[in-house]
Amino acid sequence: MRDEILDLKDYKKIAVMGGTFDPIHYGHLVAAETVRHRLGIEKVLFVPTGRPPHKNNRNVEHDEHRYLMTVLATANNPYFNVSRIEIDRPGMTYTIDTIQSLKKICSDETEIFFITGADAINEIMTWKRVGELLRICNFVAVTRPGYDKDSLLRNMTGVENDYRINITFIEVPALAISSTDIRNRVIAEIPIKYLLPDEVEQYIIKFGLYKTAFENKPFFTFINQKLHTVLTPERFAHTQGVAYEAVNLAKVWGVSAEKAYIAGLLHDCAKDFDDKETLSLCYDYGVELDEIIKRQLYLAHSFLGAAVAEKEYLVTDSEILNAIKYHTTGRAEMSFLEKIIYIADMIEPNRPFYSGIDDIRKAAYEDIDKAVYLALKQTVDFNNGRNRIIHPLSVLAMNYYENHFIASK
Ligand code: ATP
Ligand code: MG
Repeated sequence: MRDEILDLKDYKKIAVMGGTFDPIHYGHLVAAETVRHRLGIEKVLFVPTGRPPHKNNRNVEHDEHRYLMTVLATANNPYFNVSRIEIDRPGMTYTIDTIQSLKKICSDETEIFFITGADAINEIMTWKRVGELLRICNFVAVTRPGYDKDSLLRNMTGVENDYRINITFIEVPALAISSTDIRNRVIAEIPIKYLLPDEVEQYIIKFGLYKTAFENKPFFTFINQKLHTVLTPERFAHTQGVAYEAVNLAKVWGVSAEKAYIAGLLHDCAKDFDDKETLSLCYDYGVELDEIIKRQLYLAHSFLGAAVAEKEYLVTDSEILNAIKYHTTGRAEMSFLEKIIYIADMIEPNRPFYSGIDDIRKAAYEDIDKAVYLALKQTVDFNNGRNRIIHPLSVLAMNYYENHFIASK
């Protein structure tokens, strides 16, 4: 329903459920319905976001799809409506602007509630004009599975004290559903049925949403399905980003796109093991760890990753295996594929912003050795700042690429 048809003046209590809804799922719907019933809300307005400042650089191009999926999902609930207010607004989207616009089409007596998930409330302090926002609407925080409730309550107390307002806290049935995981499942060809309304599932299929950008081959599906079982949803999404970026770089630098895709997918295949599993797998696969790696075990995942890729994902190509092996430390005289994976890891589209990322992104497509040098320097500085020991391979690589890149000038 278009906003102009919806007359909000008639209501005393409305709630806004904001989100990317990419796609909308039962977690969102159950949260909204629970809050509506509990607080006696007359209308819940689902507001698909425009360009959210909190979402990282992910491509949120298909606003219309997100809007239509939200309409389909909410059509059978008389208390639910969808608003285009954010997707029709050009530029960055801030919640404060949305609530203020809504206030103008509501009556003075209308109370506005803002429903937000537990993960979002933690970011609240960073929102634009948060004090004002908290004053003009009532925040309702819903719990989300896997979330540390105590830290949520601590943070909420902090917000309440700072702004002297109340936040209503409502627990909703634990649903471990996230849009990230649904997108990951589509890529890996794993069922999404029963995680979201049938109509939305049909819509996703009809328009081929979220499908992998690269060619569909049984071997790739095998890798993606296996990765989906061992990686967290966020790591899986990062992996897709690296594979995508690596394919683009491969096309520019004359490397096999297929090799780049496989290496990108598998670069972190050993990263979500705990320390015990990491050590026992290193032992099983004969991966030797030097003293520095033993003391900083997070470095082991790339060396172990190469072994896991070979033994469990049946990769035989030594170029791919080396690209996985050296993606964390780097090394002097890397092959093009090694350089591509090293850089793709640092600049893939899901990477949260860090200072220097734009320079590395630019150099990656113009002067790859410069990009490698910048990326190494970024990593070394970051780890120095955390008082970590820099692995000698990285020190050697940085010296090598510094000279190399200066020599090429
Ligand atoms: P993504 O995985 O892309 O971050 P998401 O599943 O978190 O997507 P959003 O569109 O970011 O969905 O979420 C919109 C709102 O719904 C947020 O406030 C979020 O915290 C909340 N939310 C998301 N999933 C659930 C769930 N399973 N249960 C309760 N609330 C949820
Ligand atoms: Mg989210």
